[in-house]
Amino acid sequence: MMYANVIIDISHEKVDRTFQYRIPEELAGQVRVGMQVRVPFGAGNHERKGYVVEITDRVEWNPEQLKELSGIVSTGVTGQSQLISLAWWMKERYGSTMNQALRTVLPVKQKVQKREDRLLVCLLSENELRSAIDEAVRRKYKARERLLRAFLETPKIPYGIALRQMNLTTATLKPLLEKGVAALTVRTVERSPVEALKKIRPQSGGLGAVAACVLNPEQQAIVDDFAARYGRGDRQTSLVYGVTGSGKTEVYMEMIDYVLKQGREAIVLIPEIALTYQTVLRFYRRFGDMVSVINSRLSAGERYDQFERALNGEVRVMIGPRSALFTPFPNLGLIVIDEEHESAYKSELSPRYHAREVAEMRARMNDAALVLGSATPSLEAYSRTFPGSAGKNREIASDRACYRLYRLTGRAKSGSHMADVQVVDLREELRAGNRSIFSRRLKAAMEQELGNGHQIMLFLNRRGYSNFVSCRSCGQAVKCPHCDVTLTLHRNGRLVCHYCGYQIRSPQKCPSCGSPYIAAFGTGTQKIESVAREMFPLARILRMDLDTTSKKGGHEEILASFAEGEADILVGTQMIVKGHDFPNVTLVGILAADLSLYSSDFRCGERTFQLLTQAAGRAGRDETPGQVIIQTYSPSHYAIDCAARQDYEAFYEKEMAYRQVLHYPPACELLSVLVSSRDERVLNEAVTQLHGWVLNMPEAAHIQLIGPAEAPIYKVNDIYRKILYMKQENYGILVKIKNRLEELSSRAEWRQHVMLQFDFA
Ligand code: ADP
Ligand code: ZN
Ligand code: ZN
Repeated sequence: MMYANVIIDISHEKVDRTFQYRIPEELAGQVRVGMQVRVPFGAGNHERKGYVVEITDRVEWNPEQLKELSGIVSTGVTGQSQLISLAWWMKERYGSTMNQALRTVLPVKQKVQKREDRLLVCLLSENELRSAIDEAVRRKYKARERLLRAFLETPKIPYGIALRQMNLTTATLKPLLEKGVAALTVRTVERSPVEALKKIRPQSGGLGAVAACVLNPEQQAIVDDFAARYGRGDRQTSLVYGVTGSGKTEVYMEMIDYVLKQGREAIVLIPEIALTYQTVLRFYRRFGDMVSVINSRLSAGERYDQFERALNGEVRVMIGPRSALFTPFPNLGLIVIDEEHESAYKSELSPRYHAREVAEMRARMNDAALVLGSATPSLEAYSRTFPGSAGKNREIASDRACYRLYRLTGRAKSGSHMADVQVVDLREELRAGNRSIFSRRLKAAMEQELGNGHQIMLFLNRRGYSNFVSCRSCGQAVKCPHCDVTLTLHRNGRLVCHYCGYQIRSPQKCPSCGSPYIAAFGTGTQKIESVAREMFPLARILRMDLDTTSKKGGHEEILASFAEGEADILVGTQMIVKGHDFPNVTLVGILAADLSLYSSDFRCGERTFQLLTQAAGRAGRDETPGQVIIQTYSPSHYAIDCAARQDYEAFYEKEMAYRQVLHYPPACELLSVLVSSRDERVLNEAVTQLHGWVLNMPEAAHIQLIGPAEAPIYKVNDIYRKILYMKQENYGILVKIKNRLEELSSRAEWRQHVMLQFDFA
């Protein structure tokens, strides 16, 4: 006898449980996970609709009281019902409420007023277009130039992409429409998937026709193997590992093309920061208007609209950040996750899911393939390319546990080379009497490259902007009264808390001792900018950080103007190392490589390696060879040393050994329980009790229990936080503990005043 666990009404607040029903004889074998079914419910046995989230042979209720399923609503597993079972899986896996999981997975139903199915069509011939570009350059019409250049690549651009991805305004577009440069047309919507299939290569032969590039043998071999495996139903996850510029994106597009031809759809995840209009246009050029994009700037209604178009077959390739994973394609055949190592793929909100894992689950539910790509694969992904290695205990069927590794070993474009990387020991600079934030070597290289008319990027691998104000007399920094962090000095003279938004005018006297000797401290991007200005008064300098990018589109605007050669030096944080191609950049200076190396996160070595490698990858992407100078106080640290030598394998070996010794993922599973409360006393009580419960569980003997410890930032927004860590090789044991803790705490006295957040690292 089989039983179905059914979730009844998803619009209801209390959806955190399922109800079990017997599957009647006549429906045996027909009921599947994700199906919508009819069930008797409540005392009156009123018929309700529900979704099957699990089918099991285990009775979880008193068999006497178990009711029978009344029927199946529709035999197909719709996109929606599948997403509901995905939400259930996420709730269980990550320990959120069902409501939180549903809100993550299902778009908010909200209609937009006007459907965006308009296209901007170029009306100029290629020659006219080129002279229009020259004119735009001469008159410094940046936005116009951007659009016209895009027209060179593709004569039709969806209005939505022009506005949102390319940051054009209606004011820019108006004169172009009036002068007959471009026209705004309504695109004919293709509802039939068959019609859409015919249009797979619609854009060839456009203005300045972009021939589909011929894959090199390495790329072709990957695509062939992928297609052969796909054809015989092999859905093992693939990892495409190749340096930036090795041609991964071309490979993805070829794979997508194959899958579309099978009558199925594809999702492409790209971290938001790398989701530039150049990237989007590449896909658009290849697949035409069956491509759509979502990003965090879309309103709930626009998102809903995009998802609807995916549901009814108008859109067949969805590109976007993490949340695009939930596009309700009826026939999903492929999920691509580019830059799979990016931390942005992990959600910071409950459920704290990782896109890689959820994609794996969603792919399995849809019999779709999952392809990951990176120049610096995460340890999680790379370790799984070895048979029988770490990850074996994850709850994934054994045939999927191992990833297929595809290598791209060089740069795809002939004539582009890897940069030459040098490390400068800042301790030696100090010994030699140089107190500047620029080493002598970096300064000399800058002089030379500026002289050659090349561009330079100066990179500070620290999040955002980091100046704070401290007292020279007592040494205290000015802190947020609500959070355990220092306030950040902004250029308008205000001190701002980046955690809760609290702000004050910069004080004249030290709040702790009253001393007037109080000043800004720290090497922020502004400091670098001003020192560089002093050193090179003639150079044009652009800066990119939280301050300069806070306005809508600021990020894109700065990168675009640098790419267009409007500045000689770009100073910035990690925002500058993603996305854009800067062919004229020949020198990348990394000012303080150590900044991301010492933090409380066990992944800080990995992050540092990734950031440095990525920054190094920015230099010399075209014929001009590039040079990278890494300044550091710890030149012998393996993360820095391996990045300088651009040796991923060596880094992987060292980092994996460290994770094994200290039992960190992926060598071990790690569950952290963040306990927070406004009341410190209640917090301590709760944490002590949780700790005791774990110790009393039969599993306690098999896990490593650490803490309770204060969170790295103990107080945020007047809420105190403590953490318990549990490590164990077997993920299932940690899930059991998590479930038991959820259950026990739901009955605890402190429950109303304490928040629990589970997180599998
Ligand atoms: P990645 O995604 O690995 O960074 P891309 O796919 O973006 O690499 O390729 C980098 C550059 O090389 C792009 O300009 C792309 O058009 C070009 N390219 C990729 N493959 C080929 C190829 N087979 N022949 C010529 N150019 C290629
Ligand atoms: Zn003081
Ligand atoms: Zn604060």
